[in-house]
Amino acid sequence: MKRSWIKRKPTKPLKRTKLRKKSLQPMPTLRRKADRALQDWFRREYPDNKCECCGGQYEVMHHHILKSNSNAARFNHDNLIFLCSKCHSSLHFGNLNLISIYTAKRGNEWVEKMVELKKVKVSHYGKKALEVIIKKYA
Ligand SMILES: [Zn+2]
Repeated sequence: MKRSWIKRKPTKPLKRTKLRKKSLQPMPTLRRKADRALQDWFRREYPDNKCECCGGQYEVMHHHILKSNSNAARFNHDNLIFLCSKCHSSLHFGNLNLISIYTAKRGNEWVEKMVELKKVKVSHYGKKALEVIIKKYA
């Protein structure tokens, strides 16, 4: 005797398997890993750093050259600025004085480096390039 589909007992909804989750978007995960590796490296190298604007406890890292403007700068530790949360949000709300404060502290050599870095064009980081970055800062 054949049962009709309609009368069938409801089954548990299918669970999302790990395999499916992984296959969704491997690239953003790698990019996040590269971001994390870079930040961890920076914290290891400069464990006592204070907020570069007010001297308070540093809490966040700010990309001097915005991530959206440059792929090359995104994964370069020279582009990371130590900031406290207060200065960080103040900066994002348009307090440009803060940029001149940390820029003055970092000096001309750094400014020149940033100018050069901004010129570097990397249109897209593929899987291999991201893995190189993760290894570099591991
Ligand atoms: Zn601060």
